[in-house]
Order: sequence, then C-alpha cells, then structure tokens
Amino acid sequence: LTGSLDTGVTMTTDPGDTPARLTVLAGPTAVGKGTVAADIRERFPDIWISVSATTRKPRPNEVHGVHYLFVSDAEFDRMIADGELLEWAVVHKAARYGTPRQPVLDKLAAGRPALLEIDLQGARQVRATMPEAQFVFLAPPSWDELVRRLLYRGTETPEERERRLETATVELAAEKEFDVTIVNASVREAADQLVKLIRSPHISGKA
Ligand code: 5GP
Repeated sequence: LTGSLDTGVTMTTDPGDTPARLTVLAGPTAVGKGTVAADIRERFPDIWISVSATTRKPRPNEVHGVHYLFVSDAEFDRMIADGELLEWAVVHKAARYGTPRQPVLDKLAAGRPALLEIDLQGARQVRATMPEAQFVFLAPPSWDELVRRLLYRGTETPEERERRLETATVELAAEKEFDVTIVNASVREAADQLVKLIRSPHISGKA
C-alpha cells in the first residue's frame, strides 16, 4: 500500500495493514544455516537478520554486533530477567544463545521482513509465542553429507563434534514440525528459495 504523509514523504509500506513476515530458519547442526543466512545478508540487504546474543567466545573473524552480541553470563542472566529475549536456549550443552525481542518487533512493525536463524529449541519457543511466523527447516542432502560438513568445518574439538553429531541426530527427526523444508544442496539456491518464502505475503490465521 502507498500513502502520503503531510510532509509529502511517500510511504511504501503500511505497517498497520501489512505487517511484514517473521521467518524462522532452523535445522540440524552444520547443515549450513549460518552460510545461507550470510549469503542472504550479502545479496538481499532489504531482509533483516536478527543478531543473537550468546555467551560463546567469538571465533576469529566474528564481529561483535554483526555476527553475535558476545555477552558475559551475567549480562545474559540480566537479559533473561528483564524479559528482553524472545527465546533462548543452551545449544550443544556449551553456551547460551538468545534472540533480543525488541529489534524483531520493531523491524516487523516497520514493514521489514525479518529472519531468525536459531536452533530447534528456540524455534519451538517462537512457535509458542508467535505462531503466525513461518517455520522453515533446512535439511542436508544426506546424513553422510551432514557428517562431512561437520568434520570439514574443523573449528570444534573432537568432544564438541561428538556432541554436535548427537544433537544433529535428534534435530533431523524434527523436520515434520516445520511448515516447509528446504534442502541445502547449493547455498545460493537454498538462499533464493528462502528469500521467496521470507518475502511471501503474510496470511493471517496460518500460512
Ligand atoms: P554457532 O556457535 O556455530 O555460531 O551456533 C551454534 C547454534 O546456535 C546454531 O545451531 C545456531 O542456529 C544456534 N543459534 C544461534 N543464535 C541463536 C539464538 O538466538 N537462539 C537459539 N535458540 N539458537 C541460536
């Protein structure tokens, strides 16, 4: 919808009438959710991708405020206590990750499509509180490919890899809880498919 303010500024969205859509992307560990999200960040800057808070230490090349908000345990506790997180979870029994709520609500209210790239536990919490969101499962082409990707990344210790494989087994079984599955055979194609869904019109009730 297009409207005009008194100032003569033309609005291209009407937040009250056409709220933008929230899309939640989840899937097993190492399936490539982060890579797909990074490709979308680069090629489709109109889509807003939530920046999660985490208690994990930054990896080389990770930038505070871009990839994550790297916070202390005490700060994460405070965010939970103050109700600032839309969802949060302990991932891989290693660190806490959570989605700051207000930026998501602000972007949607402003008519900007928003994407959360989070783990399965977080996706379930969002489904409970924002059932109008659409839930997309990113699946590996095969189990062997998933294992290969997990080992190839090489940023984790053997114990961490073992834990992540265990988590992945459980996570693969969760596909049926999702609205749509995208198979991540090619990052670019998976990102293109996801962007179509992110931009698809919101249907009130259930999509
Ligand atoms: P990594 O440590 O490799 O960056 O991420 C580990 C896992 O944490 C990934 O599966 C990612 O989807 C998940 N994750 C990242 N941010 C969030 C978040 O805000 N909430 C939840 N529940 N999971 C997250």
